[in-house]
Amino acid sequence: MTFKEKIYIPTILSGMSITFSHLFKKRATISYPEQKREFSPVYRGQHILKRDDEGRERCTACGLCAVACPAEAITMIAAERKKGEENLYREEKYAKKYEINMLRCIFCGLCEDACPKEAIFLTDRIVFPEDLRKNFIYGKDKLVETLENRIDVSLRQIKKYSIEK
Ligand code: SF4
Ligand code: SF4
Repeated sequence: MTFKEKIYIPTILSGMSITFSHLFKKRATISYPEQKREFSPVYRGQHILKRDDEGRERCTACGLCAVACPAEAITMIAAERKKGEENLYREEKYAKKYEINMLRCIFCGLCEDACPKEAIFLTDRIVFPEDLRKNFIYGKDKLVETLENRIDVSLRQIKKYSIEK
């Protein structure tokens, strides 16, 4: 070791100068959750199963989204609409059970593209962390929009943000 290396002080001072120089730089981090970053308009987060203007579920359990999904994240069970349920389901067939495994999902949006009924969309909502793997299986209780809290998915649909040219 050289004399300079043996006495350590220049090296310590050099390290401290680097530390202090960072005190005056703009921070790359934010204080989440008090502060939140603005998402891109094309951000694809948690899915929503939409209702129509009359509040009926749009999904007709055709299975096209499940076929299109490269991660095999979607499963469903179809059922026939019964008499008197016309106000609940738009089509004669509906998804009695509809599940997305959020641990498998890669948020590619192919399910949204494949849907002929404009029933499934990806939104700007975050899939929250969980302790148990089973909690990442999202069923209709988490996916179907409520009548009180309709989710606006129109922003990503406008041409300006469309991926298709
Ligand atoms: S976003 Fe992609 S990976 Fe996720 S459920 Fe839809 S098709 Fe599957
Ligand atoms: S979300 Fe769309 S593609 Fe998927 S089963 Fe329902 S109607 Fe078919």
